Parts: sequence; C-alpha cells; structure tokens
Amino acid sequence: MGHGYDIHRLAGGRPLMIGGVRVPAEQGAVGHSDADVLLHAIVDAILGALKAGDIGRHYPDTDPAWRGADSTRFAQETAARARDAGWKLVNLDATVLLERPKLAGHIPDIERTVAECLDVVTDRVNVKAATNEGLDAVGEGRAIACHAVVLLARRHR
Ligand code: MG
Repeated sequence: MGHGYDIHRLAGGRPLMIGGVRVPAEQGAVGHSDADVLLHAIVDAILGALKAGDIGRHYPDTDPAWRGADSTRFAQETAARARDAGWKLVNLDATVLLERPKLAGHIPDIERTVAECLDVVTDRVNVKAATNEGLDAVGEGRAIACHAVVLLARRHR
C-alpha cells in the first residue's frame, strides 16, 4: 500500500486541473507542471507502494522539461512502472480538499479519467471531495489539497 499527499496554492488566471479534468473555476492551482493535486497525490501513493521515492525525485520541479506538463503523463508512466515491476492496482481512494467550486458533479468524469490514465477499470478508483469548513488555507480558498491511498498486489506468484 502507498499514501500520497499534495497541496498547491490557488490563483486567478490558471486552469484548475483535477484528475486530468479541467474544472471550471475562478482560480486554478499554481505549480511548475499543470499542478494537478489529485494526480500528484496518486503518483506519490503508487511510488510509495513501490518503495520508489516520490514525485519530486522522478519529475523534479527544477527541470524545465516539466514546466506546464500534463500530469496525466506522470500518472501513466508511474502506473506503467508498477505494471513493469509485476504489480497490479487493486484499488485507489482519494480525497480532494477544496472550498469551491463544489466537485460533486465532476467526480464521475474525474474517476473515469484517472482510471484511464492508470489503465484500470473505473470500479477500482474512488474519488471523494470535501471542503475544509472554512479552516486554514484550503478553507479560506487559497489552496487545494489531496490525500490518496493505493493498494497494489502481485500479478502472479
Ligand atoms: Mg504537486
């Protein structure tokens, strides 16, 4: 099993990418890549389960190659790394913390896109959304954060 966490500041004039889906919003996430917190947390969770370090090691934000990068690529490559090492994804659960907009209507799209990135059926991917009840930077609408956990299993013994 592996756990991932990510947080990005929010600012105007940026797209809000969540799980590879562009969510209409007044503010988007600020980052070196497309700042997709959900995909970043998922990548970290998979890398953690593989004992393969973290996203910063594989896709350093000091590398110009990743400026504005589409994070679906990070997720696809990381899922492929797990498969190549003989693992399959049993399931994934994630919670996106965002004060606004409400994400409920986007969850099916997000789950489908994440599952496609990871090359698994949608039934294995669960994404939840919550606010931070007005508390701290997320609650004040200044940041978006995400927690993710994944379970991997050996493909054959
Ligand atoms: Mg990130």
